[in-house]
Amino acid sequence: MIKFTSAKCAALLTLTLALSNAAFSQLVQDSVDLQPYNLKIEDDESDEADSVLFVAPTAHMAYPAYAIYGDSWSNIDVNPYSASPANMSNVVPINLEGYTHPNRNVITSRFGFRRWKFHHGIDLRLAVGDSVRCAFNGRVRIARRGKAYGNYVVVRHYNGLETTYAHLSKILVKVNDNIKSGDLVGWGGNTGRSTGPHLHYEIRYLGQAIDPMTIVDFETGLPYSSTFLLTAHHFEYVKELEKMRYWVVHSGDSLWAISRKTGVPVARICEVNHLSRTSILLLGQRIRYR
Ligand SMILES: [Zn+2]
Repeated sequence: MIKFTSAKCAALLTLTLALSNAAFSQLVQDSVDLQPYNLKIEDDESDEADSVLFVAPTAHMAYPAYAIYGDSWSNIDVNPYSASPANMSNVVPINLEGYTHPNRNVITSRFGFRRWKFHHGIDLRLAVGDSVRCAFNGRVRIARRGKAYGNYVVVRHYNGLETTYAHLSKILVKVNDNIKSGDLVGWGGNTGRSTGPHLHYEIRYLGQAIDPMTIVDFETGLPYSSTFLLTAHHFEYVKELEKMRYWVVHSGDSLWAISRKTGVPVARICEVNHLSRTSILLLGQRIRYR
């Protein structure tokens, strides 16, 4: 929460009053009720005056981690940001105090390259109806159903991280709910692209996923330390993914083999590369598939 200093208040008030002096005088003449309000503006610096004058028009400032995300508050996109933390040069200290592990069950799939795709989270086995809990204090940014994620929740936290809980059987929070670490976000389930009941758990910073296992010890369910030092190093996979947008033709590759390995239909590969299904691929040729 941004706290306005009395100096800022005074400057803003002076400006406001100067700009609207004529209109304001008229209003004061028209209504005696405005007179005390006017006096309060001039000499009062209490929180009450702040809440009347400033908080309402800038309510978005109450969003967690406003200093990092600004006004961006999408209730649909997991990553609506155009940031590339893979290129950041500074170290970002993340406060992990008060962490709650969303579910203590065993890992069934880790973060990282998974055959031909990338897995942006960690899968934890659970039974439908098991509790899924929020990792840190924060505000619910997304609570909806998606094709791949099924029923899922994204929470923005005050420490700058965002967490995602996917494949839920039931969502128990609403968009814009302020929730605490350990609060229930939903019941575990098998919705969306899922082949058995599990929790898909992601930790992101500025929209880019971080391997949760670099932050939390999944054996104990506790963070490795109270402060996590986030660097570009944690996003190196993003550059690998960028590279993977082109497939270099190796011996034995065909359009169908590339399609199978990339998960992109042959028709789409032909379209973006201006190829036909009978085109001959050359060794070392770069085929765009995404
Ligand atoms: Zn998953």
